[in-house]
Amino acid sequence: MKPPQKDEVRKPTKTLAGVTPIAVMCAPKKCKHGTCLYCPSLEVPQSYTPKSPPVLRAERLKYNAREQVLSRLKAYELMHHPTSKIELIIMGGNFPEYDLKYKYDFVKLCYDALNGKKSKNLEQAKKINEKAKHRCVALCIESRPDTLVENPRAIKELLDFGCTRVELGVQCLDDSIYKFVNRGHTINEVIQATKLLKSFGFKIGYHMMLGLPKSTKQKDLAMFKKLFSSEDFKPDQLKIYPCQVLKGAGLANLYHKGKYKPYTKEEIEQIVVKIMRFIPNYCRVMRIMREIPPEYLIAGTTRIDLRKDIEESIRKNKFKINEIRYREIGFAYRDKKPNERLDSKLKLKITKYSASKGNEYFLELINKKNILFGLCRLRINKDSKDFIKAIVRELHVYGQSINIGEKSKSFIEQHRGLGKLLMKQAEALARKEKSDKLFVISGVGVREYYRKLGYKLQGSYMTKNL
Ligand code: SF4
Repeated sequence: MKPPQKDEVRKPTKTLAGVTPIAVMCAPKKCKHGTCLYCPSLEVPQSYTPKSPPVLRAERLKYNAREQVLSRLKAYELMHHPTSKIELIIMGGNFPEYDLKYKYDFVKLCYDALNGKKSKNLEQAKKINEKAKHRCVALCIESRPDTLVENPRAIKELLDFGCTRVELGVQCLDDSIYKFVNRGHTINEVIQATKLLKSFGFKIGYHMMLGLPKSTKQKDLAMFKKLFSSEDFKPDQLKIYPCQVLKGAGLANLYHKGKYKPYTKEEIEQIVVKIMRFIPNYCRVMRIMREIPPEYLIAGTTRIDLRKDIEESIRKNKFKINEIRYREIGFAYRDKKPNERLDSKLKLKITKYSASKGNEYFLELINKKNILFGLCRLRINKDSKDFIKAIVRELHVYGQSINIGEKSKSFIEQHRGLGKLLMKQAEALARKEKSDKLFVISGVGVREYYRKLGYKLQGSYMTKNL
């Protein structure tokens, strides 16, 4: 491949949502509960295959967190992407289940790499990162729901790491399927983990699977409807993975005995188009499909870019889609017709909904065509046991990421004062809800931004008296 030209940004989609994502993989470790029926066990991080690009990279660097971050930073710089606002994603298994020392060292090394220097401990590394060249603006950790519910230290650890988003492996909402696939937890833990995380301000993504053994298309559709009709769930984000038969997974035996068949590409497409039509405006569909190297796929679809086909079908049928990613300015600009003009006159829309014993206010800055330029999630906890009353769980300005301190040259880029405007509205709503303080869960690299808005560091949160 030729190196990019002077002003060419290679693979611009990677930073189109406003941040530069860096995925870091932790060393292989078996899950404590055993192995889920569909999950491959292949001497690499649980659920991954040896030829997956992040595994290859991590193996080459002996799963060293610092080296992995440095290598991704270098690759982004070579592709001319901005690298001042980094979203760290820790993947590779059930991170909260790892050894305490391993976890703290791993996260510290990630910050050290961003800071370009070694620090004495995690706290110092985070402090340095507040003003570093590569700031961690968001940190995501993947977890099973039961691990968080069962470990009384879980929330403290997540806050110590500077975590802002948790991706929960939920997969389905059916206890009999959980039992059949050896999931090792029930819906009850999903409900508890969701409430726990939301009340402490974390943004929540669910990983959901379509076509699990014992499920049907009707059941899958009903399950996705329940995700948004029941107050117990309502995730902020979704990754939708159709169940595939992989080498090294117990499901392969069932498949070979003719007792299981995954959905075809057409079946997945039909069902996801239906699901997309009722996903609400406050949820972002992060991904549809998981990339499986063909040599590890026994049965299932090989079409990685299924999302493109699905969105094409949605456009052709003129279906109205409310989920976030479909409406983000960066993607809307990329996918617009050549002569189409995108209106940049914005209005504020507030959606209020109740979820997990609290009220959620979802604030959006949108244009006439419902294209999204920025959002803010404010939660008001209603459970008397919660020690925080009002908390901003997310503030995000969409558009092509640009470096901190840089001025935007066009309306599809960030930094147009939209974040400040959304925060003002959130503060007004929190006051109206009779809260005398607003908490914000923020990546350590965004603390300086909040200080400029009058916030102070209190524990792991930025707070402001109202
Ligand atoms: S919890 Fe996730 S990683 Fe662990 S066995 Fe199940 S699917 Fe695999």
